[in-house]
Amino acid sequence: MIVLDPGHNGGNESHAAEINEMVPQGFGQEKACDTTGTNGDDGYSEHQFNFQVALLVQADLEQRGLRVILTRNNDSGVGPCVNIRAAIGNSAHAAAAVSIHADGGPAGGHGYQLLEAQRSVGGSSVESASHRLAVAMHATFSQESGLTPSNYVGSDGYEPRDDIAGLNLTTVPKILVECGNMRNASDLALEESASGRARMARAIADGILRFLGQ
Ligand code: ZN
Repeated sequence: MIVLDPGHNGGNESHAAEINEMVPQGFGQEKACDTTGTNGDDGYSEHQFNFQVALLVQADLEQRGLRVILTRNNDSGVGPCVNIRAAIGNSAHAAAAVSIHADGGPAGGHGYQLLEAQRSVGGSSVESASHRLAVAMHATFSQESGLTPSNYVGSDGYEPRDDIAGLNLTTVPKILVECGNMRNASDLALEESASGRARMARAIADGILRFLGQ
């Protein structure tokens, strides 16, 4: 089973109380249930982009014989909260879980980021498997996505983090992919084009398959 987690949701903006509720982040910390995500200067929203890409990845993986669960099945609901997104992957005993996002960084910054938990509740075996997933995703993303590794955060596209609930709380191999910077004109153009989204989705699907050794 593969779990795809398209970040945020279309109803979050109009449900501030729900998405601002505090939930466990792991290791005794808390954070907000979810956020609204970012958007391009023209209003194209991250939640929509994330969902569009996730559907493409799902279709690709299913066509290649894998079973896929999404953490949300439409782009008009609220949440689920970030801790629940992790729980969905955990209870599915996912072979791999990937959160799909796009960043809202400085206008001059561009490229993809692969976020990994510095530590996760699954322990060192899950942390190292998640890193192997990140390495596999780096190989495919750098070749296929049309994006370069981020030039404004992290190192060569890798970004260890300690504040991402969905990664801290995972007990299965999991990473978060920031598919470019929606505040950067060239990344946004790729994100807004069907061909650009198809390239990124293919890179994610191929990264998962590469990790699985298929
Ligand atoms: Zn996001």
